[in-house]
Amino acid sequence: MVLNPVISKLANKLVVLASASPRRLEILRNAGLQFEVVPSWFKETLDKGLFNAPYEYAVETAKQKALEVARRMPFKHLKTPDIVIGADTIVTVDGMILEKPVNKNDAYRMLSSLSGKEHSVFTGVAIVLCHDKENEEVDYQLIDFYEETKVKFADLSESMLWEYINSGEPMDKAGGYGIQALGGMLVEYVHGDFLNVVGFPLNHFCKQLDLIYNRSTSSSDSESSSVCLSESGTRSNSLGSPAKHNASSSSRQSNHTKNSPSASPVHKVKRTGSDFEVDESSWTLVNSSSNQTDICEADTLPLTTSRGQGTAHGDSEPKREDLQRIIELMDGFKASKALFTASQMSVFDLLQSRPGLDAAQVAQEIKASVKGTECLLEACASLGLLKSKEQTCQKLLYENTDLATRFLLSDAPSSLLGYIQHCNITVWPLFSHLESAVREGTNQHEKAFGKKSKDMFQDTIYYNQDVKLRFMKAMHSIANVTGRAVATAFDLSSFKTACDLGGCTGAMAYEFTKAHPELSVTVFDLPAVVDMSEHFTPLHRDDRVSFVAGDFFKDELPKADLYILARILHDWSDEKVHILLKKISDACTPGCAVLIAEAMLDGRRPHSALQSLSMLAQTEGKERTERQYADMLSKHGFGDTRVVHTRNFLDAFISVKI
Ligand code: SAM
Repeated sequence: MVLNPVISKLANKLVVLASASPRRLEILRNAGLQFEVVPSWFKETLDKGLFNAPYEYAVETAKQKALEVARRMPFKHLKTPDIVIGADTIVTVDGMILEKPVNKNDAYRMLSSLSGKEHSVFTGVAIVLCHDKENEEVDYQLIDFYEETKVKFADLSESMLWEYINSGEPMDKAGGYGIQALGGMLVEYVHGDFLNVVGFPLNHFCKQLDLIYNRSTSSSDSESSSVCLSESGTRSNSLGSPAKHNASSSSRQSNHTKNSPSASPVHKVKRTGSDFEVDESSWTLVNSSSNQTDICEADTLPLTTSRGQGTAHGDSEPKREDLQRIIELMDGFKASKALFTASQMSVFDLLQSRPGLDAAQVAQEIKASVKGTECLLEACASLGLLKSKEQTCQKLLYENTDLATRFLLSDAPSSLLGYIQHCNITVWPLFSHLESAVREGTNQHEKAFGKKSKDMFQDTIYYNQDVKLRFMKAMHSIANVTGRAVATAFDLSSFKTACDLGGCTGAMAYEFTKAHPELSVTVFDLPAVVDMSEHFTPLHRDDRVSFVAGDFFKDELPKADLYILARILHDWSDEKVHILLKKISDACTPGCAVLIAEAMLDGRRPHSALQSLSMLAQTEGKERTERQYADMLSKHGFGDTRVVHTRNFLDAFISVKI
């Protein structure tokens, strides 16, 4: 029996699943789909750093898997499939993408990073429609989408973790667990499509088939077929013949459907009638008043007119999502300041201890006006930091969202409050003089704080205990959130001693010793900082972390096999960086290494480019590209460079003394 009528539409078609996953096979077989299995030869080695969001990586991998099979079959199997389905499932936590573990230690790393936390499971799906042409070429149309499901793991004890790992189940599964078997015992809750976590979002898939086979072809009006994904669409979605196109150019021309926005310059939207509404989280357009949806390209959508009425290029009306994007960019500073203000006024801590307060009650607690507090709470709710529910008397009661609970409470393990406070009090005034910083190419301390700064660490930060402590809290909070990703980016088992230059509170050093049981780390920082470091000693003190006071430009560096430079080089000019690298090189013997953690400039991610502007306004430094770091290091005898894009605040880069 086939419950979903769209599955029966495929009865006479050659459907191919480009995946060897027994779980996907079972899900699709159980749904009544008849298909052949032709596992893809596409190697899952796409550079994750090239993608703006984790789901883009999953979607691209799914696309490449499906296209590889679609292109191979006419030659190797001497038949052209009608449809090829590709899928890729990933798990993401703390900005990291977890695929299948390569060994038990890798499984341990993954599972322990999921313990006690909510994570996301994304499955990217690609449907390739193949059309034989008269000249023996094949045209390919591509539809892709993704599904996200949130899963929360219970706190896992070491013995549970190892018992599960030793069961062998984690090894061939994204994130190191299988929810449908033993792994189900680790899970506290699942929000979203369960089958998506197993490996295939069946419901979303059926909806897409419905759009392809029922909606587009059943529509007889020509305007619909000209913009919608249909086999007769005049807007060609052809990916060309195998001989003519390579994979990457194909993917750029592909059709995207719901929720797969930014891997391609073409955003796909859901269209429902004459009114469109932008769903900001996914960059799709949705009509709130109707359930009916069609798929069409964003380029075809005018801002206000009904379907079929011209396009919005050049000097005509702006495209709706372009306008939305530009408004978002213009509003960015307001969003930041709303977040900073609510944090500064302890709104999130208050609502954590007393959830369900209304605006007047919050106003009273934070000693602010009711009008102002109402505006602030609504702004935070619109940004996804608070949620509200309406009482019968029409009062809104507020509480924190998961995001706020995770990052915005003063006592949360991943609290970013220290950094937020630093951004609000120090970076914001400096950044507001960005125009001068760009014109002059120098930091803006004099304009922002009335005091010129040659070395902001020596001159500005450490002249006042409060300022120093605030700065250290800021560094500490970022290092807490990002340290693990940096510390586990490379196999460091050959190093026994490390020196974390400018290691501040030691937060990064503790992550290194946690991740590498054989490693001892010396934190080297200015005396004023080392004096204060005991304010930050973790509960579980580790004797393998020690502190040495000194100036890394003037004093002898502690001897070590590995020198860690986390957010150090971006503070300094090229000239100063060379001075420091020379000192490190002089202290190193062949085989020793330098590990740099910075937001590497790559021309794609706003985070690193904006961070570079921020460094311009704050320091004499800037962010640099991997190439620039590699070139600088090679001048001091370092080579064999490797980079890991952690998808956290910082990327990790290692280079070995030759
Ligand atoms: N590495 C830490 C991290 O990632 O959290 C802190 C980075 S913070 C941007 C720069 C650090 O370098 C501060 O702790 C600062 O005190 C230290 N620093 C600055 N100049 C220094 C110098 N001349 N010698 C030693 N440490 C210095």
